[in-house]
Amino acid sequence: MNFVLHGSSVSGGITIGHAHLVSTARLEVAHYHIPEESVEAEIARLDAAIARAAEELVALGSHVPADAPTEFAAFLNLHRMILDDSSLSHAPRTLIREQRCNAEWALVQQMDKLVAQFEQIEDSYLRERKADIAQVVERVLNALIGGQTLAEPLASDEKNLIVVAHDLSPADMILFKHHHYGGFVTDVGGVTSHTAILARSLGIPAIVGLHHARQTIRENELLIVDGVQGVVVVGPDPIVLAEYQLRQSRLELERRKLLRLKSTPAATLDAAVVELHANIELPQDVPLALAAGAEGIGLFRSEFLFMNRKDLPSEDEQFEAYREVARAMNGRTVVLRTLDIGADKTLSGNGAVRPNPAMGLRAIRFCLAEPQMFLAQLRAILRASDYGRVRILLPMVAHAQEIEQALALLKQAKQQLDEKDEPYDHSIEVGGMIEIPAAALALPMFLRRLNFLSLGTNDLIQYTLAIDRTDDAVAHLYDPLHPAVLHLISHSIRTATRAGVPIAVCGEMAGDLQLTRLLLGVGLRNFSMHPAQLLAIKERILRTNLTEVRPLAQRVLRSTDPRRTRELLAKLNA
Ligand code: PEP
Ligand code: MG
Repeated sequence: MNFVLHGSSVSGGITIGHAHLVSTARLEVAHYHIPEESVEAEIARLDAAIARAAEELVALGSHVPADAPTEFAAFLNLHRMILDDSSLSHAPRTLIREQRCNAEWALVQQMDKLVAQFEQIEDSYLRERKADIAQVVERVLNALIGGQTLAEPLASDEKNLIVVAHDLSPADMILFKHHHYGGFVTDVGGVTSHTAILARSLGIPAIVGLHHARQTIRENELLIVDGVQGVVVVGPDPIVLAEYQLRQSRLELERRKLLRLKSTPAATLDAAVVELHANIELPQDVPLALAAGAEGIGLFRSEFLFMNRKDLPSEDEQFEAYREVARAMNGRTVVLRTLDIGADKTLSGNGAVRPNPAMGLRAIRFCLAEPQMFLAQLRAILRASDYGRVRILLPMVAHAQEIEQALALLKQAKQQLDEKDEPYDHSIEVGGMIEIPAAALALPMFLRRLNFLSLGTNDLIQYTLAIDRTDDAVAHLYDPLHPAVLHLISHSIRTATRAGVPIAVCGEMAGDLQLTRLLLGVGLRNFSMHPAQLLAIKERILRTNLTEVRPLAQRVLRSTDPRRTRELLAKLNA
């Protein structure tokens, strides 16, 4: 065995395969010297790439939809200005001449210099423009390397390949949905970042926070990704390999056994009925949800339809995607969450970096600031509601007026459809995500105004504990068992249940086997998770006696000693 890297497991299972290193162009460009006689050709290569990037920006500008956010055009102008500026387009030429370095290297050197200068600026808005410089450079780098995207198809068998990257954005990750890699490992990222959630939804072993994987693993090297322990074995010796092959076949056997539970109704041993729904990102995920026997879609993260594209999806395009899901679910509920863009999920070209994007214009805040875009999405959802049991879910609500404004826009969207005699479900239900502590604490405000609630525990934990879910430096503090988190969850479930308002959990806690009995014990009867986790959770529910679990769950809630909490949890799961 050569060496082992430790990280945080995102999804279980074991995969054995060969490393495929992928690059985000900016971080990992090639560095090499060029011969004297190639200098002019290298400069011409740089100029051609700059010209191509400029053409892309012009093309983007001419396709801005009428209802696109106003910031979009401003951002394009800014990027064009940066590209035209001699400090970006001319200075690298001098570097190529003087240092005889390749164009990519010259460009990145100049970017680092400019970014360092921006970092000195006191004005925070101007300081943050360094992100725009990086994005423009990335565009030119992509043009230099021939416009390959991260997920270019590979000739070899993808199932035997393990993607190794320094970092992957949610937008990168969604591209991998079109592929069938054996596993993923990254240097950075928290386990509930959207990148990690997407990796989990692929149902393959994945590990984040390995720190040095991208630097130390070589292309094509044999790897074992142990998603159970959160380790990567690099260059395993034959004994270790044989041991892992054995473990892998055992896990596969267990997975196949679980498939037998697909049509078994989820209920505890003492007959408490539980609903199990699936989280999806794209219409193409529906077959997985159905294969796992999901009773419905509990969370359709619609924002992924808006990523990796230069324009916004039109109302018709959205309608078709939503209708596809509604039809495929054939009468089962589809909870369609309205656009939750912001924080780590960005629209291509939405380059205006805010000082603190997780707390900025994200989700419902963004939608209310862009009413035309929001109205288009609401009309698309309403139109799709004629084809199935569609519900609307509003993300990140915290204020009563946000609900009121969203409901007023929904009314307007309905009127617009009425004028055109378009059919839709006139009594479509509207729910809210409880993922900001304020919303959990002021629950009656939401119970009065909404038909159902869904606890977004990923953000609820992030905002309760002030832990950035994407930052692996604080990942160890991201704790679903923190008394404050458990209090907010149990309080919300109890209050909503008493008021007769359905409440679900759709954050990653719903798919965590260690927490199933605890959540059942505090009264949860509706779980929504990635299809890959659903059958294992069902099996746990089928083996649970609620009468035994309830008092233990209450003891976990009362515990103020983290060690004791974990002991009680172990007892609960025994
Ligand atoms: C959550 O926050 O728990 C949630 C389900 O939404 P997302 O992970 O998309 O933020
Ligand atoms: Mg959330």
